[in-house]
Parts: sequence; structure tokens; C-alpha cells
Amino acid sequence: MTYTAEIYREFTFEAAHLLPNVPTGHKCGRLHGHSYRVEVHLVGSVGDDTGWVQDFGDLKAAFKPLEAQLDHNFLNEVEGLKNPTSEVLAKWIWDRLVSELPNLSEIRVRETCTSGCVYRGA
Ligand SMILES: [Zn+2]
Repeated sequence: MTYTAEIYREFTFEAAHLLPNVPTGHKCGRLHGHSYRVEVHLVGSVGDDTGWVQDFGDLKAAFKPLEAQLDHNFLNEVEGLKNPTSEVLAKWIWDRLVSELPNLSEIRVRETCTSGCVYRGA
């Protein structure tokens, strides 16, 4: 009997950014860095033989080129991240993974221990 499950893999990277559109004096307008945490979620049926939705290694391989663009970089200089809020970054990641991971269900971006964003492709 097949059933559906959601799997995810977490990635971390370090990057600098500033938010160019915040009001003058807003702390996010100053150059600063974050230890970003990103979760990539997939939904699918659990295969009878495999017992899994998808190989976690596929998630790792799909994220690798993105990590190369983001890790230890200045996000504002990355194509498409002129205003690198968590929301913009979550969609940026989604748009670059969805063709390779068609079962993509959710991207979570966490900037700090207490602040983050969930994007589900809508
Ligand atoms: Zn920030």
C-alpha cells in the first residue's frame, strides 16, 4: 500500500547582505552577515521497493551549485538577489531547484535562530 510522505534536507551557508530598500537608519540597511539555514522539502509517494520518496543525495546534488553561488558571498551581487530578503532568497532557491526536483513542496530560509521564511511556490 503506497502512502505519501514529505522529506527534507537542511543546508547551511554563510553570506553577507544588506537590504537596499529599507528606510534610512534601519539596521538591515547596513552591511552584515548571517549563518543561513535552508530546508528543501519534497512531497511524494513512498516507493514499495525503495521505501523512500527520493534519495537524499539528489537533494544534496541539486543544491550544490546554488551553495557555490551563495556561500561566503555578498548576496546583493548575485544575479537575482539585488534585494536579498529571506522571501526573495526563498523564491530564488525554489526557481532554481524546481526543474530538477519537481516534487518540491517547500523552501525554508532561516536568517537567524528566530527569523525566517517559508515559500511554497505560489
Ligand atoms: Zn540580514
